[in-house]
Amino acid sequence: MKVTVVGCSGSFPGPGNAASCYLLEAGGFRVLLDLGNGAVGALQEYCTVGDIDAVLITHLHPDHCMDLLSLYVARTYDPRRGYPVIPVHAPAGAATHLARAYGRAEPPGLTGCFDFVDWSEGRHEVGPLSVSVAPMAHPVPAWGIRVEHAGRTLAYSGDTGPCDGLLEIAHDADLALFESSFEQGRDDAAPPDLHLTGGEAGEYASRAGVRRLVLTHLPPWNDPDLSLAAARTAYSGPVELARPGSTYEL
Ligand SMILES: [Zn+2]
Ligand SMILES: [Zn+2]
Repeated sequence: MKVTVVGCSGSFPGPGNAASCYLLEAGGFRVLLDLGNGAVGALQEYCTVGDIDAVLITHLHPDHCMDLLSLYVARTYDPRRGYPVIPVHAPAGAATHLARAYGRAEPPGLTGCFDFVDWSEGRHEVGPLSVSVAPMAHPVPAWGIRVEHAGRTLAYSGDTGPCDGLLEIAHDADLALFESSFEQGRDDAAPPDLHLTGGEAGEYASRAGVRRLVLTHLPPWNDPDLSLAAARTAYSGPVELARPGSTYEL
């Protein structure tokens, strides 16, 4: 599997960095993990909008799903050719949520472009990928994603507070993309079940036995060095910050 960081800015786009979106390529198949604000622009640095075979959405906050509307426009109204309908695996209610955001009544909503599939616990076959999800701890229904292909495993937290689901999706993973939105001290009074600190991301990566940790979803107001240092106190494996354009071969 090859993973490309399309955008990794936490909660809203930053300068030169779209909100969450990761391009996963395996076996000739291209899948997007989340499609946050601004991500379709950045995506076109790496492939065309017509190259995408499926989209996996962790939750319905705008920084994780709102550029599905841009992908809809780009695939639906391209004058050169028609594109096939692609599956969008997402929390229940996504089809209605996004149709409303677009101002489109249902039916048809966005069904001419996307085939929405509700997440449920258990395995989902997405092209050549084996995908499983676990509920995360967040103010809206949110799913962490585990992708397995050819003996390699990628784990992606989406947004979450500390929870056992992280261990479920990330055990023995070759690469874990864990969010690190919060800073210890600054965010100690924040509500629970919202986000991880760098230290918590490191702690869960360590407990899950992941081989490599990449910190994602840092909002533009964070000091990335603090998040990285905190993760290193709890995780002894290789850890780095996600950056737009970074790639990982698993
Ligand atoms: Zn987010
Ligand atoms: Zn969120």
